[in-house]
Amino acid sequence: MTRKRKTAPGIHTPGDDELLFLPLGGTGEIGMNMNLYGHAGQWLMIDLGVAFGEHELPGIEMVMPDPDFIVERADRLAGLVLTHAHEDHIGAVSYIWPKLRCPVYATPFTAALLRRKFADDKATDVPDIIEVPLSGQFRVGPFEVELVTLTHSIPEPNAVILRSSCGTVLHTGDWKLDPDPLVGDDYDKQRLISLADENVQAMICDSTNAMVEGDSGSELDVRAALERELAGLKGRVAVACFASNVARLETVMRVAETHGRRVALVGRSMHRIIASAREAGYLQDMPPLIDVRDIDYLPREEVLLLCTGSQGEPRAALWRIANGDHPDVELQEGDSVVFPRG
Ligand SMILES: [Zn+2]
Repeated sequence: MTRKRKTAPGIHTPGDDELLFLPLGGTGEIGMNMNLYGHAGQWLMIDLGVAFGEHELPGIEMVMPDPDFIVERADRLAGLVLTHAHEDHIGAVSYIWPKLRCPVYATPFTAALLRRKFADDKATDVPDIIEVPLSGQFRVGPFEVELVTLTHSIPEPNAVILRSSCGTVLHTGDWKLDPDPLVGDDYDKQRLISLADENVQAMICDSTNAMVEGDSGSELDVRAALERELAGLKGRVAVACFASNVARLETVMRVAETHGRRVALVGRSMHRIIASAREAGYLQDMPPLIDVRDIDYLPREEVLLLCTGSQGEPRAALWRIANGDHPDVELQEGDSVVFPRG
């Protein structure tokens, strides 16, 4: 373990009478969240994610925030709190944490997925993740931290209440208020309402498409639509899905069962997410999956392939199938590919 350099108090050290918010990434841009809160000589970090290069940055797969500011003051970093397990919130932990070496706090699903990511990458420099319960309260440096359960497109999204002697802020992380999330807890409406009486000084809030009017619909609506869609299909069916959307994976598995189809997972991240979800207590009574290498033993109309690559990501399962490049899966005339929305 490398020894941390002690930094002397300076102009960038938060004072006892200050409560500072310093986003190093993710504010005013999509992805790579890295937020710092400063008070009484110490910093607390919320989330440490990556962004994906996509079309604006051709040839670049992944982008990370510049952590130099806090790396130079790592001895003043009291801890890293992870709100949820999307890549834009945890994806940079394995790259940047070795330079920070602070305690890492996460709820069970996020902790399970992060441990699996480290294991899959065969990383040796790994933090001990401190697992905190949903609605948990704990202390990180000069901050009293409390989690509030929200809903989003992944299990266990948490808002973070930070209390300090200089006041209280609410850092929401990502959220979509869904009254019927299907997997995981409903959002903690009572706690959000009671927070209104606690003199919160600021809400730091971020939600993709927050500026678009209208409702984004519930997971329950998706289940009904998928039921209808699958009813008329013959042949193999491939359903494209973000691996991290455990509620959606569960929806597809349930609908497959009612239509007499066995589900095979296609894509490495599907396996990782489902194993992490089960470890954290979700998806406990699902119908058994079949190995993708065994699908040729079943009639085509009894197979449903749950595939990564819903946005056409190169090298994801659906991309490889479409290019005739997947070792285990081929589609032919009469088979169908379904892209559920939202
Ligand atoms: Zn998210």
